[in-house]
Amino acid sequence: MAALQARRVLLTGSNRGIGLELVRQLLGGPHPPTHVFATCRDPEGERGKELRDLASKHPNLVLVKLDVANPSAIVNAAKIVEEKLNGAGLNLLINNAGIFTPVSLETVDSEEMIRAYKTNAVGPLLMAQAFLPLLKKAAQDSKEKRLSCNKAAIINISTLLGSIERTPESYFKPVISYRCSKAALNMLTRCQALTYSEAGILCVALHPGWVKTDMGTQEADLTVDTSVRGLLSVLPILSEKHSGMLLNWEGKAIPW
Ligand code: NDP
Repeated sequence: MAALQARRVLLTGSNRGIGLELVRQLLGGPHPPTHVFATCRDPEGERGKELRDLASKHPNLVLVKLDVANPSAIVNAAKIVEEKLNGAGLNLLINNAGIFTPVSLETVDSEEMIRAYKTNAVGPLLMAQAFLPLLKKAAQDSKEKRLSCNKAAIINISTLLGSIERTPESYFKPVISYRCSKAALNMLTRCQALTYSEAGILCVALHPGWVKTDMGTQEADLTVDTSVRGLLSVLPILSEKHSGMLLNWEGKAIPW
């Protein structure tokens, strides 16, 4: 099976849950990247401790402070990463940070809708804008002709709950702000794919499964280890034919 060989990777929300496990498995994989930029809101504080422990063992792990709901923080982080890359491009941007609030149509309010959109949809949009020059650079420098995660890619971690077609079967969990913001992320992914493929950048949305994390709770189906192993085995097989699609952690397409 093909292995992921992206050299320079950046992730958001990487201090716990799926993001932290992605960092761990990327560093421990057969082709560890030369740079893993693990971003999170508080790398210096208590919430960043596990990342700091990892960084003390892996010189290729770089911690960067980044709140995806703060547009100027995104611009600053892109400057820091550009400096560290010293003329090289960024191969893989994984927009993983997300928030989930158990609100229904009756209980949701405008603040909660806006909060969810800022993190789950606007954050990934601004991340792609800010890191676009570095992604383009990676695509230009690559010898690969086809679109791939090794060359240049934006992966938006989305969810089945953002699929409009599949809503009736999962509506026992209304989570309105989460669903609407992730449906917006799915639309964003399709628009990014149509726009950025010309520059050689692959854009795909991935559903990690229902995963035992703070968000997924311990009732979930999958361990974080299984989900992330699945995601990391899907990334290397992605190509043109997956551009602008929503796939699950096993590589199966999910309808919009
Ligand atoms: P967790 O709640 O365990 O972790 C969420 C991560 O996102 C944390 O690192 C958190 O950081 C970070 N985060 C939240 N808001 C921001 C922000 N404004 N800026 C930067 N980082 C932020 O969630 P999971 O690991 O389970 O989820 C990861 C992704 O997978 C999400 O996009 C989620 O929607 C998606 N997903 C998860 C599923 C599941 O079953 N777990 C199912 C389907 C999709 P902090 O510690 O600072 O709060």
